[in-house]
Amino acid sequence: ATPTALLVGTGRGAQLGILIKGPQVLESTRRVDTVVLDKTGTVTTGHMQVLDVVAGPGRSAAQLLRLAGAAEHGSAHPIARALAEAAARDGVLPVASDFRSLDGLGVQAVVEGRDVRVGRRSWLEQGGVGVVDELLAAADRAEQQGRTVVWVAWDGAAQGLVVVADAVKDTSAQAVQALRQLGLRPLLLTGDNRRTAMSVAAQVGVDGSDVVAEVTPQDKLAVVQRLQAEGAVVAMVGDGVNDAAALAAADLGLAMGTGTDVAMEASDLTLVRGDLVLAADAIRLSRATLRTIK
Ligand code: ADP
Ligand code: MG
Repeated sequence: ATPTALLVGTGRGAQLGILIKGPQVLESTRRVDTVVLDKTGTVTTGHMQVLDVVAGPGRSAAQLLRLAGAAEHGSAHPIARALAEAAARDGVLPVASDFRSLDGLGVQAVVEGRDVRVGRRSWLEQGGVGVVDELLAAADRAEQQGRTVVWVAWDGAAQGLVVVADAVKDTSAQAVQALRQLGLRPLLLTGDNRRTAMSVAAQVGVDGSDVVAEVTPQDKLAVVQRLQAEGAVVAMVGDGVNDAAALAAADLGLAMGTGTDVAMEASDLTLVRGDLVLAADAIRLSRATLRTIK
């Protein structure tokens, strides 16, 4: 490949809103046959809304949201932003101390003297937190509707849950179709629950058998590596801190320009407007650029 043609391709990419780390990236892009899509913030907007607050026995929804919102204050995760904003609408948030964030699992902080944990159920249970049937039924109903359930615990027990959801981006279904037209296999990869993931997959046209849900950030990396071991040349599209390892390991990493710096640093390409259609444009561009060269 002549350096000039690659530079022209890079310049054309910039015009489209695709920032390419170096001209050599276009060469790896050409061989890609599999595209792994992160869900939250990549296929969906990542602007989560609080839809419901369900308090367990003896607790109030206001208290639950206040403590959860305060604990989430230090996190940039879309779920954290939604909880902190909803809680702040009801009044001033108490100050949290000893804040800890565990990527892809949840957060932990001391609020009003309580050790508050907010996150996914499996993580809370691993920490010895008990879950009551009443809350399980509410969680089940929400997940059946394709929503995300965030558990809130203190005093070693689940005290309630918050139901959040975001919307699929307008262009995501079109983008998946464009990827298929390029002969690529799209997969959906998420730390979120399986039912929510299946609902999003159906909306954008990813096969149910190509949905991998309830994974940790390390599992995201393992999924990319497993596909590579099976012989696939893998592109990964993501936006979060939890995607960074998978983005770096992929043959081609594409970051949403609307996402975290960590994701962009780990990637070969940045899609400036955070529009998934640009992922297909990038692959089409690299093929066209290299065809001119040959
Ligand atoms: P995705 O793969 O969809 O981008 P993440 O890996 O960031 O999702 O998160 C996976 C799951 O971990 C979330 O669905 C949520 O249950 C939980 N989680 C992660 N971060 C937080 C947080 N700050 N607060 C509450 N729950 C969280
Ligand atoms: Mg994400």
